[in-house]
Amino acid sequence: MKRAICLILTCLLLCGCGAKDTTFNRTLFCMDTMMDFRIWGSDSTNAANKMADMLEAMEEDWSASSDTSLLAALNDGTADLTQEQAELIAQVEALSVRTGGAFDPRLYAVTELWGFPTDDFHVPTQEEIDAALLERRWDLGAALKGYAGERCVQIMERYDVERALLDLGGNIQTYGSKPDGSPWNIGIRSPFDSGTIGTLSITGTMSIVTSGDYQRYFELDGQRYYHILDPKTGRPADSGLSSVTVVCEDGLTADALSTALFVMGLEEGTRFYQESDDFEAVFILTTGEVYATEGLTLTGCEFQVISHEN
Ligand code: AMP
Ligand code: MG
Repeated sequence: MKRAICLILTCLLLCGCGAKDTTFNRTLFCMDTMMDFRIWGSDSTNAANKMADMLEAMEEDWSASSDTSLLAALNDGTADLTQEQAELIAQVEALSVRTGGAFDPRLYAVTELWGFPTDDFHVPTQEEIDAALLERRWDLGAALKGYAGERCVQIMERYDVERALLDLGGNIQTYGSKPDGSPWNIGIRSPFDSGTIGTLSITGTMSIVTSGDYQRYFELDGQRYYHILDPKTGRPADSGLSSVTVVCEDGLTADALSTALFVMGLEEGTRFYQESDDFEAVFILTTGEVYATEGLTLTGCEFQVISHEN
């Protein structure tokens, strides 16, 4: 059995930002993953401290495994949500509707049944899956880090941060621009080895989120069972994809859509893209083929372009 807590994206700073520009570098463990901040600006230390506090509070509030979290109270129908928390839940519900339920934030009982939160892995019976699907317990694991990136941006706006590159456990949040106007270069991790398959050029403040079959999984009898579940079956989504990377201004949307597009697969995901105007995406198939939507600048690999028009 194997568990991979991976940094999905390797951040390549190819921008000529010399060490003297880097005013703050910080690593922390939060939301079950390593996070890494690189922040430029005179008040970076305070901004980083505020972000770390916010992330820890967010982890506590929205923990799906705790009996005493806000999310547990939401399951019990006893949660007293602030306006901001109620807005988050409303946005999450809207994203679930928008994706036709491919992003389903109420699958925790099924995730738990497979043993992903505890590493106590188990291939459940159909009967067990059907019962767990009915429980509808909340789990914001597919969207919270993206939302956290968005909240970090709000904090950095209040401090004297010039620009930043945050790696929230593979969810990348860029902030601001480099002085010379050159883009951030973000490597997309290969699902097949520890290298990268290509590099995205990203301008300004953006969220870049990947969902992949290599991020959390176990293997049994030669079969890989991973953590992204198809809500229709309660089983790992068998969509022909190994990873999906979404680029979007809105972090919560980026994160929810990366999970949803992974569940949908290339064909349905292409249709979804053509009906949308707020994100770009890179699809990596299990065969190794790469498809990227037309609004992206992707270098270092061969790929087919998905356009908005059919
Ligand atoms: P991500 O890595 O962002 O794709 O999120 C995967 C995590 O979200 C899993 O570890 C589960 O906790 C949860 N999850 C699994 N499948 C889904 C789904 N179809 N919709 C929403 N959350 C899911
Ligand atoms: Mg996600």
